[in-house]
Parts: sequence; structure tokens; C-alpha cells
Amino acid sequence: MPDTHMQTATDSIDAMQAVLDRQKAAFESERHRPLSDRKADLEKIEALVKTRGDEFAAAIDADFGRRSKSETALAELGFTIATAKHSRQHLNKWASSKPVSVPMTLAPGKAYVRREPKGVVGIVSPWNYSMQLAFAPLVAALAAGCRVMIKPSEFTPRTAALIKSTLAELFSEDHVAVIEGGVDEASAFTALPFDHLFYTGSTQVGRIVAKAAADNLTPVTLELGGKSPAVIAPDFDGAEAAKTLAWGKFLNAGQTCVAPDYALVPRGSEQDFAKSMMHETGEMWPDVATNGDYTAIISERHHARLSEMVEEVRQAGAEVHQLAFDKAAAGNTRIFPPTVVVNPPLDSKLMQEEIFGPILPVLGHDGLEDAARFINERDRPLALYVYAKSKQTARDFLSRTISGGAAVNIPLLHLSVEDLPFGGVGASGYGSYHGESGFLTFTHERGVFEAPVWHPSRLIRPPYGKMFEFFK
Ligand code: NAD
Repeated sequence: MPDTHMQTATDSIDAMQAVLDRQKAAFESERHRPLSDRKADLEKIEALVKTRGDEFAAAIDADFGRRSKSETALAELGFTIATAKHSRQHLNKWASSKPVSVPMTLAPGKAYVRREPKGVVGIVSPWNYSMQLAFAPLVAALAAGCRVMIKPSEFTPRTAALIKSTLAELFSEDHVAVIEGGVDEASAFTALPFDHLFYTGSTQVGRIVAKAAADNLTPVTLELGGKSPAVIAPDFDGAEAAKTLAWGKFLNAGQTCVAPDYALVPRGSEQDFAKSMMHETGEMWPDVATNGDYTAIISERHHARLSEMVEEVRQAGAEVHQLAFDKAAAGNTRIFPPTVVVNPPLDSKLMQEEIFGPILPVLGHDGLEDAARFINERDRPLALYVYAKSKQTARDFLSRTISGGAAVNIPLLHLSVEDLPFGGVGASGYGSYHGESGFLTFTHERGVFEAPVWHPSRLIRPPYGKMFEFFK
């Protein structure tokens, strides 16, 4: 009997390869897409989000089972419009050749860097910001003049279908194509010989993707996850820090790659800090059962994973604070209430794995040196947040640690500054995007030396005799 599952996967692999071939041929025939056309591409994206944003919000809401409309407006629609506009406005400067000085020994002549599109690029995106994380790299790739294939997450199928149908109305398939599907399609997709592969997702899958890309010598950007710490310095008021940390943690119900994963607070202040967190959370999201601003967990499996994490530390005797809510009134089995856990065991899943949900472990530190040691003993995080009254204290703390990005006295907002490179380091990934660094991710910097018709270096030819004596 034929294996229909295998047959479908093979068909789609052939179809993907065919799209890639058509995109490569189209790229070869155009090579350097004029900047005016690239700007028009970006304008199309802006107009799409402005005119059909409500459809995207509805698809994301349906995929999540409940997604805050305001958070979608901020983090998906607004973010995409801002990044497309910013890229369009700065494109002339980013795309221009950059002159480089020529050493005296090579004068006269000109040296410069041409910024050229890499070619056909693949983008693999996750479910947690299912629109932003497909569109932001798409914008960067289009600005760079590339052709693009996107494989969105199978966990948000309505958003994936809408991304596919709306982009198909705006771009020919040999310019932008969207491939739907699950793990089989994702594996086949990442095995294609792209000119660049851009992956956002878990560290575990990132390792698989890096190996697949290596077989083709495809350069790869890995935007991965990890446990991003938030550290409160002894000079900072914990109740004040809780005001913004609660927002950064429980936004999108904690399903944010740069969400503060755990908090390190001055030892002895753990209980007070946990109470402040619960107070702020209750103010921001009263009655999470029916609150349209409080997002659901993406799947039953992830909901069960989070419940197990809390159960494990509860049984180990850790103190668990959880906002009470009426499960029956929620009418949604995937609501997980904001939860703060004081001093969970370090060998618990809560402290060993990325939480990616609305649970904040709070641990005590014995000063900033101790906090830095705690962070440095673990995988390098995607983000790090430090709350300190003194700028110097915050900067000293940054000098003692390593993370993909960082923000002082506020969580998340470093990723909204368009011109800051956004990306991980170590286990949280490599490469970056946003602003010019996104443009450069999809750009080949081609170094050129231009000599005049007659250049003194033509005198360099054997027999050398004592020609190079002066180099000694
Ligand atoms: P996911 O399950 O949606 O997977 C991401 C993508 O990987 C999907 O398109 C999926 O089809 C694909 N995929 C799955 N298995 C694959 C395989 N074997 N080979 C190739 N591709 C495969 O998302 P996820 O991984 O659950 O996403 C959550 C993780 O992503 C978290 O760790 C989070 O921190 C991280 N994340 C990072 C960023 C960032 O910017 N650094 C942003 C968002 C999420």
C-alpha cells in the first residue's frame, strides 16, 4: 500500500524546490532590484497592514483562542508598519556603496563596498507573534532586494493562511512565496539551498536548522530563545520595578521570546517583590477569566507543560502566588493565570527550561556580583534587564554579563528601537536584524578595488630582485 503521508511530503518538497528554482531564475534575470521598486514593495506591506489589519487580528485571535486586540495592534500591526516605514525611509543610505580608504602602497585607486542582495532567502517563523516574526524579516529581505520564501508556524494556521493569501495578492510567486505545513515541510524547507536562511524558534530546533543549512553552506541567522533574567539592584525600589516587569512578563501571557523569564532581587525582598508583582498584575489584568486583554496559551500541550512546571515546585515546597479566576466563566481551557513563584529549586523545570508562559520565578541575590555570577553560569540569554537607580551601576552590570540585547529600568523596549540590532548570542542564537542590521543580514557586502588604467602595481612582477626588501 502506498504511504500517502510520505507521498504528500514528497510532493510538497518537489513543489518547494520548483518555487525556489523560479525565484532563483527571476533573481538572476533582475539581480539588482531598483531602490524605487523596493520602496514600492515596502509601501505595499504598509498598506496591507493598514487596510487589512483587522483580518490579521481576527486570525491571530482565533489561532490563540484569545489574543488581546491591543497587544496585536501594538506588537504585530504597529510593529510591522513601523519597520516597513523605517526601512523605506532609510533605504537610500543603507543601500549606497561605502567608500573605504586606500593604503598609500596601493594608490592611486578607489576602494568601496557594494551592498548587493544575497539572492533568494528562506524565512521560518514561530507562532508567538505569528505576523510580526514573519513580516519583520520579510521587510528586511525586500529592502535588501532579495526574493523570499516564508514558512510560517503550523501552530497558527489561520494566520499562516492569511499571510499566504494576502501576500499572493501583492507579489508574484517568484518574488514572495509562502509555504504552509508542519515539521515535515519545515525540515524540507530548511534543507533547500537558499542564499540565506533566517530562523526564529526554539534553541532545540535551531540546532537542527543550523545543521541543515551547513550542508548547503547556506549562511543562517538563528533567532532563538532562552531564560532572560531581570535583576533588581539594591538601590532600586522593587515595587517600582514590578510596575513595568509585570507588564513585560504577562504581555501575550508570557509567550514572548524576550519576556523576563525569572527575577533576581536583593535577598530578603523576595516576598515583598512577589506581592508587588501580584498587585500590579491584578491592576492591569483584573478578572483574567473574561478579560479580553489577557491572552490564552497557544495549545493544550503548552498549557499542560506550564501546569506541570508549577505543580513540581509546589510539591517541592515553593511558595506559589496565582491570580484567582473562575475557570467556568473563562469558557476557555487555555487561560493560565499570572503566577509568581518564590525561590523554586534550581533543578526544577521552572529554572532549567525557558518558561514561555505567565510564570515568574523570583530568587534572591547577595549583591550584583552574585547576580552576575548566577547569570554567567547559565546559557547566554536573549535579553537581560537591569533595574538600577545609578546609570553607572547598570552599565557596570552590563560589563559583567553577556546577553543578546539588554534594557535598563524597563523590559522589552530595546526591540522597538529600530536601529538597535536584535538577536541572540550563544544558545540564544546568532546574527541579528531590525533596522540596518536586518538590511545587512540579507545583503552581501562585496569589496571592490578600482585601479586606473595604468596603476604602479603593474611594476610588481618577477624577477623580483630586491623589490620587496623594504617590507622587512
Ligand atoms: P514553532 O513551534 O512555531 O516553530 C518555529 C518554526 O520552526 C515553525 O515554522 C516550525 O514549523 C519550524 N520547525 C519545527 N520543527 C522543525 C524542524 N525539525 N526543522 C525545521 N523547522 C522546524 O515555535 P517554537 O519553536 O515553539 O517557538 C518558540 C521559541 O521561539 C521559544 O524558544 C522562543 O523564545 C523562540 N523565539 C525567539 C524569538 C527571537 O526573536 N529570538 C522570537 C520568538 C520566539
